Amino acid sequence: MYKNDWRLTNQMNYLQKKTLLNMRFEPFKKGWEHEHCEFCSKRIDSKTIDAYTTEDRYYWICKECFDDFKEMFEWKVKNN
Ligand SMILES: [Zn+2]
Repeated sequence: MYKNDWRLTNQMNYLQKKTLLNMRFEPFKKGWEHEHCEFCSKRIDSKTIDAYTTEDRYYWICKECFDDFKEMFEWKVKNN
């Protein structure tokens, strides 16, 4: 249903059916103070209290994109 959405590039290759954590932003590495949403590129930083990330905390997804793409990507969510 969102097949032609401008935010979609190749995320299916690495985010389909992943387990995501719903949490406040936390850097993957010290010094990486912010990330960008994998879909819309919105900034995600320590002020972001409701974001989604892969279990390794490498990829971050903002709440709006999570809501828009959760069915398409078949994510499972764990609360952190
Ligand atoms: Zn987004």
